[in-house]
Amino acid sequence: MKVLVMNCGSSSLKYQLIDSESEAVLAKGLCERIGIDGRLTHKPAGKETVAIEVDMPNHKEAVSSVLSHLTDPVCGVIGALSEIEAVGHRVVHGGEKFARSVVLTEEVTTEIEKCNELAPLHNPANLIGINACAELMPGVPMVAVFDTAFHQTMPKKAYLYGLPYEYYENYKVRRYGFHGTSHSYVSKRAAQILGKDAASLKTIVCHLGNGSSICAVDGGESVDTSMGFTPLEGLVMGTRSGDVDPAVLEYIAGKENLDVSGVLNVLNKKSGVQGISGVSSDFRDLDAASKDGNERAAAALDIFAYRVAKYVGSYAAAMNGVDVIAFTAGIGENDANMREKICGYLGYLGITVDSEANAVRGQEKVISTADSKVTVMVVPTNEELAIARETVALVK
Ligand code: AMP
Repeated sequence: MKVLVMNCGSSSLKYQLIDSESEAVLAKGLCERIGIDGRLTHKPAGKETVAIEVDMPNHKEAVSSVLSHLTDPVCGVIGALSEIEAVGHRVVHGGEKFARSVVLTEEVTTEIEKCNELAPLHNPANLIGINACAELMPGVPMVAVFDTAFHQTMPKKAYLYGLPYEYYENYKVRRYGFHGTSHSYVSKRAAQILGKDAASLKTIVCHLGNGSSICAVDGGESVDTSMGFTPLEGLVMGTRSGDVDPAVLEYIAGKENLDVSGVLNVLNKKSGVQGISGVSSDFRDLDAASKDGNERAAAALDIFAYRVAKYVGSYAAAMNGVDVIAFTAGIGENDANMREKICGYLGYLGITVDSEANAVRGQEKVISTADSKVTVMVVPTNEELAIARETVALVK
């Protein structure tokens, strides 16, 4: 079955066409600057990449452009649209309503709309993509795969904040967690690589990318995760602050003459390793600057590693042990120095890293020594493949 995987942002759209039998990516690409002018990068497997300016006044035009490139006689990979038998959509927030992926119907779309206020930047864009595909591919079954769904197994003690209970009851204020598709995929894949049953393992997944989160997976279920009501909580990230004392908000607002949304903009977009270093949110730039003697870049890397190590420690405590630690996403998969730095804090867990094995980039690999008490691994994430699998499982 050929499955189109869609990930719609407010002005962008990422897609992959996946053959579910071979799990091969037939084509992938990206539409950018939707609603502004429009740019499409289309990469068909085994053919030249196409990068062109296309007028994309809205998401429907963007989807239409993607479909015409997929079926194009030169850069296309399928003969006709009818070959696409299902569409899987990444949806950021499913609230408490969606604990798993679901086939899209009008009723489901209405329920997703109700989650819009929980993810005002993301869910409306996801829905626009869903509606555009429904119009252009009528009758093709579509599935919503939620970033939050995997974490719906968290117990109350992990998801409730120390706030008046009415805020949870009346306004749904609680911790939801994100990156669920990645945490689920990586924890299962880690067990598979080790030839173990996921149900028998305590795993900590470190999804370290531009956005970063950690998840405690006990017996295959998420029991805690570092992102919360929004993806701002938890680790220090590329441009996001992660955990800060909430009283800082009022203090900064007064000093910088900002309102609440102004301060949140700083916490989301101008903080993290970018804000600390003043250099970049990209760890390659930070590494280079730090090697050149830039102290703030070095501090940013130290702060990042320290926060990750603290979360790993807290999740080992939460699960009363840990069998596997899996690193994934841009930093987790590629940055051997950062992995070593983080694991340097974890000697008390009986962890020893094999430096030679750790020199790996973007490959599935065990990087701990044979006598390490916890298995440490690199497991590249593949959210698109996970979405395609979920989609096939539901529409077949
Ligand atoms: P992601 O959000 O998962 O796409 O991760 C993107 C981030 O991964 C970038 O901002 C970089 O900080 C980081 N990254 C990617 N490649 C490398 C690399 N080779 N070394 C260090 N960091 C990397």
